[in-house]
Amino acid sequence: MAGTKTFFIIKPGAVRHEHIGPILAKINANGFHIAALKMLMLDRHHAEHFYSVHREKPFFESLVTFMTGGPVVVGILEKENAVAAYRKLMGATDPAKAAEGTIRRLFAENIERNAVHGSDSDENADIECDFFFSKSERFSKFED
Ligand code: GDP
Repeated sequence: MAGTKTFFIIKPGAVRHEHIGPILAKINANGFHIAALKMLMLDRHHAEHFYSVHREKPFFESLVTFMTGGPVVVGILEKENAVAAYRKLMGATDPAKAAEGTIRRLFAENIERNAVHGSDSDENADIECDFFFSKSERFSKFED
């Protein structure tokens, strides 16, 4: 079924501050199925590739250094319209602008160290999920 999954990251700051549990609890409480999950270090090459659309931005180096500076949790979430539903739960990129009750409003430190990533389209969700998870690491409610 199309449009039912998204890819997410709990970023290094949130992992370091012991926010993995509260963030996963919020995800579950909002009706998402966790279809895949693991903890790892992003290497610089992968982080640069992952954020390549921001390569020309002044914050690119800082962002890559932050994302590779400690372990992250990566996962696949499932729900109807997962990409849009999870971006709503995440809140705006800048936590100062994020709505009350969103993950970024609750757990972000600033616009860069903003606790979580979520795919911005179904196409990118497919690419990101395939990059991090093999078929045997996924436990989908929707797919075989
Ligand atoms: P997202 O889809 O909400 O994560 O936002 P973007 O794709 O625009 O940005 C990717 C990531 O780059 C964000 O989640 C932040 O970690 C970081 N970022 C975005 N804008 C800024 C900025 O203006 N300054 C800094 N330092 N980091 C930013």
